[in-house]
Amino acid sequence: KASKQNFFMEKPDIKFEDVGGMDKVKNEISMKIIQPLKNPDLYKAFGKKIGGGILLYGPPGCGKTYLARATAGEINAGFINIGLHDILDMWMGNSEKNLHAVFEYARKNAPCVVFFDEVDALGASRSDLRQSSMRHVINQFLAELDGVASKNDGILVLAATNAPWSVDSAFRRPGRFDRIVFVAPPDEKGRAEILKQHLKNKPVENIDINALAKSTAEYSGADIQAIVDIATEAKLEESMAKGSLEKITTKDLQKAVKQHRPTTQEW
Ligand code: ATP
Repeated sequence: KASKQNFFMEKPDIKFEDVGGMDKVKNEISMKIIQPLKNPDLYKAFGKKIGGGILLYGPPGCGKTYLARATAGEINAGFINIGLHDILDMWMGNSEKNLHAVFEYARKNAPCVVFFDEVDALGASRSDLRQSSMRHVINQFLAELDGVASKNDGILVLAATNAPWSVDSAFRRPGRFDRIVFVAPPDEKGRAEILKQHLKNKPVENIDINALAKSTAEYSGADIQAIVDIATEAKLEESMAKGSLEKITTKDLQKAVKQHRPTTQEW
């Protein structure tokens, strides 16, 4: 019986320049998976092995998914986003077959970035009913990763987790997720860049980006997006009431900061 495919490929329209801050992480991704694709001969000449994935970890909302999507955009590749928590539930009883189908699909659509979010869902220590079958799924996943590493057929694998301590240690061997990168909450400079990104195409006037970046310590990228959304909505309503276009100001954004508490400090 044919099972319905519950994953698909998209073509991201964002690049690294659309991602605020994260310079160190961008550089890691570039050196490990983008440059080898662009300069395979150079890597060979210097004896640098190509292949292996990167595991991104850190608090929610700090841009792991966004950056993975931008990685695909950067090299004009496709992007397949697999949220393992949800998809394992959908695949119940058929996980190995479906996992294999993901990699087959990726191969057909290469070059592409396959992003496994919540990779800790593949934990051998899960205490639910599926624990015994989980080992099989993990082994299938490892076999697929090793296949990608040895065939070098245009698939780039990225993974992310908020719970790195729950990720199976077998994933971290060479050729698998052998680079583990912490995606920290944005620093002041990063927050300024993220603010600029999200205000880019909106009607604004006299925005004091630096002051806003200062007053948003501990805010994640997602929190900053939420602040811009709150201010935008308020201004849109005001504009409709007044019948004129009211632009977003620093004051509106400061007000939104007070309405939205940062989420990263809970991590
Ligand atoms: P989770 O662990 O919950 O999956 P995440 O780290 O993957 O979180 P994202 O989904 O990438 O977080 O970020 C959520 C949203 O926040 C993004 O869609 C984006 O709009 C915004 N955002 C986060 N970080 C950045 C950034 N560095 N630059 C611009 N926007 C960002």
